[in-house]
Amino acid sequence: MLSLLLGALALTGAASAQDRTTESGEAAITDPSTECTAYAYAPVTAAKANFPEIWTPVTAIYPNDTAAYAKFTAMNASIPDISPKGTMAGDFSNFTPTYPATDPDCWWTYHQCTTPSAASGLSPDVASVPEPRTLGYGFDDGPNCSHNAFYDYLTENEQKATMFYIGSNVMDWPLEAQRAVADGHQICVHTWSHRYMTSFSNEGAFGELYYTMQAIKLVTGVTPTCWRPPFGDVDNRIRYIASQLGLETILWKYDSNDWKVGTDGITAQDVQQNYDNLIANVSGGLFDTQGAIMLTHELNNYTMQVAMDNYPALARAFDHIVPIAVAQNKTTPYVETNYTFQNFASYIANHTNATVVSDGSVSASAGASAVSGGSGSQSTGAIGKSAGVALRVPASLALGLVVLGAALCL
Ligand SMILES: [Zn+2]
Repeated sequence: MLSLLLGALALTGAASAQDRTTESGEAAITDPSTECTAYAYAPVTAAKANFPEIWTPVTAIYPNDTAAYAKFTAMNASIPDISPKGTMAGDFSNFTPTYPATDPDCWWTYHQCTTPSAASGLSPDVASVPEPRTLGYGFDDGPNCSHNAFYDYLTENEQKATMFYIGSNVMDWPLEAQRAVADGHQICVHTWSHRYMTSFSNEGAFGELYYTMQAIKLVTGVTPTCWRPPFGDVDNRIRYIASQLGLETILWKYDSNDWKVGTDGITAQDVQQNYDNLIANVSGGLFDTQGAIMLTHELNNYTMQVAMDNYPALARAFDHIVPIAVAQNKTTPYVETNYTFQNFASYIANHTNATVVSDGSVSASAGASAVSGGSGSQSTGAIGKSAGVALRVPASLALGLVVLGAALCL
């Protein structure tokens, strides 16, 4: 049995490694190092000259980009008159000593402000979801080149999430970005270069958001209407620029600290404790009136593994785990109105809760549909396939993997 399974795995890897040109081909690769070998994707290659340098902070709109200039010029005069803060790497030591304790800019990094004053005219950030006993499920920093095992796991559990994508990663791993839409996940913006946003000039901050939106549109065919500031670093100036671009600011109330393991004395045990605390808070009634958002990441294999390890317990604790847009009853998550999500009521009616089996793995209930339900549907678009169609691992192989996984655990 084991040798048969391994043989099947080897065959799958060898066959799928040939196709690095389509979303489905890329999604079928099971070897992480093959997944993370660079490839060229023609639409990105053709458009690269119109985008900023990958991983380089955007300081200005790209020369001759008249569409971007027009958009920026239209908002520029009304951007709140707030000076940039600190450095792009997040050193605020020269800034905070003179910053008023009243926090006039509603600067999250200072005292976690998420509610700008009424006078600002800005909407509050989204740090919780309105639906009770519900987890607004999301992951930052993708698309990660080696995310297939994680996305396979989500698909097997019919679980959709909100993915906060970095523009530079989208340009590097466009087929991985397409997979989010193909699998029915929601995509939000997580800036171009992942620096502290309050440090940027107005034009630079605009560019960090704008070019990420353009990259996601280029690759997936959809334009996000939400963003999350890296490190949560946002103030009223940055909120305004984002809002003028049609982006709602999404933060969190709970931090798993998965991204910090190995730094600042944070250990894997601390991360587990953060998950455990969140779960204890559900039974403690903390989310009986509104649901939760916890900061978790697609950053590396550890953060994805810890997400999978904790999914069964989260699924047991919360009544519902849904993408943030679904928990907000936001049925058009993108600028393109041909792509729709179900509202919360119909989403949960069509997504039977995952049932947790005794060995700790999770399997979807038989009543839930793997192909037609989907949280999203798209009649046209760059990918040209229904968002709900996602199963790429043959059922027999998937079952085999579960068996193999269980065997290895013993
Ligand atoms: Zn991030």
